[in-house]
Amino acid sequence: MRFSKMFIPTVKEDPKEAEVISHRLMLRAGFIRRLASGIYTWLPLGLKSLKKVETIIREEMNKKGAQEILMPFVQPKELWEESTRWEKYGKELLRFYDRNNRELCLGPTHEEVVTDLVRKEVRSYRELPLNLYQIQTKFRDEIRPRFGVMRAREFVMKDAYSFDVDEEGAEKSYMDMYDAYTNIFKRCGFRFRIVEADTGQIGGSFSHEFMVLAETGEDIIIYCDSCGYAANLERAEVGYQQDKEISAKKGYYKKVETPNKKRIEEVSSFLNIPPQLLVKTIIYNTDRGVIGVLVRGDRDMNETKIKNILSLEYIELADEATIEKVTGGPLGFSGPIGLKIPLYADRDILYMEDFVVGGNEKDMHIINANISDFNVEAFFDLKIAKDGDLCPRCKATLNSTKGIEVGHIFKLGLKYSKAMGAKFLDKNGEEKYMVMGCYGIGVSRIIAAAIEQANDENGMILPCSIAPFEVDVLPVNSSHRDSMELAERIYKDLLAKRIDALIDDRDVRPGVKFKDCDLMGIPLRITIGEKNLKDGFVEIKHRDKKESLKIKKEDIVGRTIEHVEELKRW
Ligand SMILES: [Zn+2]
Repeated sequence: MRFSKMFIPTVKEDPKEAEVISHRLMLRAGFIRRLASGIYTWLPLGLKSLKKVETIIREEMNKKGAQEILMPFVQPKELWEESTRWEKYGKELLRFYDRNNRELCLGPTHEEVVTDLVRKEVRSYRELPLNLYQIQTKFRDEIRPRFGVMRAREFVMKDAYSFDVDEEGAEKSYMDMYDAYTNIFKRCGFRFRIVEADTGQIGGSFSHEFMVLAETGEDIIIYCDSCGYAANLERAEVGYQQDKEISAKKGYYKKVETPNKKRIEEVSSFLNIPPQLLVKTIIYNTDRGVIGVLVRGDRDMNETKIKNILSLEYIELADEATIEKVTGGPLGFSGPIGLKIPLYADRDILYMEDFVVGGNEKDMHIINANISDFNVEAFFDLKIAKDGDLCPRCKATLNSTKGIEVGHIFKLGLKYSKAMGAKFLDKNGEEKYMVMGCYGIGVSRIIAAAIEQANDENGMILPCSIAPFEVDVLPVNSSHRDSMELAERIYKDLLAKRIDALIDDRDVRPGVKFKDCDLMGIPLRITIGEKNLKDGFVEIKHRDKKESLKIKKEDIVGRTIEHVEELKRW
């Protein structure tokens, strides 16, 4: 394509609205423009990259036998009521009425629609397994849309849904998608980790996230280099030392005054006892009543773990009135001794001795408490994992890193097929529920993640497979006839060899051309300058390297093809 003819509105200054690098560079390089909060237009350059990502996804999905469909963006309330998600989904689900007063929503995901399709069309085990996918617009009314297309309200997603006759088949479908995703993200040029994840809003039994490693990532990944264990922060388990002794001490505790000292740091410094010898007692409201949960003073509670282990529908911090009612004391002074509600504790507490807890009355704490002084229903791994904790699998030391989630795969089991009656007849003519899985990729987010992963002060450094162009042919002086003629010839030859080339045929200063080329992150640049040309040479430069290579002008097309092939090898 010709730069002079393309709609590429680049911007020199950093846009004020952008909070992260990818957002800033996508605006500056003319990839996207904002229409409203969390809603963006894709301009030709950005869309070109987006289409390349889509092609990679399609190829890898099709290789695994998945079939592409296109489902509606607008969905009827009735389907969401069947799955009970109309109530549960909350405000992210954008709901509205049509002219006949029927309630509808904009699809944030398509489990309901695809399950409805399959339950109506599939009758027999002979028609299974089935994996249907689409690449389509989604809408989630995020409370705080931010970071451009990274956390937008409207975005492009690839979602796939598998239907199998049994658990074994579902497992195979899951692993097929695991492999397909691995290939997709390798081809997109990502450094990424596959981590165990919580199943969250979608529900189901098991899931993995695909995380692109980037300093600016919003997600924290906990991993072990010894055994390969990796999980997102929500899910990450922690290993505990088994060889420690459990204290049998009892009845040594005594009350001490701690006037106005509520927070751990305050109590710790007032009593001159380190936070790891304090125990926090947190009171929660849940669907199974009020509970108390204990965790060491220097650690944070992982509410997802509590919710999963106790199979709770919901969990939220108790309000002050509830705390007063169940403990007898105000917020900040809760402790386990004498409490009548069910207590659960992080396993750290098992091995603690002579610790500090709240006194269940105003301005009072208890020192020298021990686990025999109160009754705990059960000890679990309930804390948020962090660097330096023990690996749950091999007991080596855990590390953490930051990432951006680009893909997520779930084993759904029978959740939707039961709720919506997706059944088939098996070999023996018996009616059975289909076993489902669902698999998502944030397509538009992939571009942002790629930019977050690699960039410099001059702009994006995009992987060759998803950059808007593979090569920029750049004649330095547009009024120099020989340069322009050679540039045109190289450009046409590259196109003929199926290289995705851009020619910068604009009549602008060389500095502008170089700057735009770097900003747009085009992986290879062929520079045609008057001086080199006199000796029969042109230059080729990789976006991520400082030095350029001088190459004979008659060899440039062949060498460029080699470079592109090398860059796209994965
Ligand atoms: Zn390990």
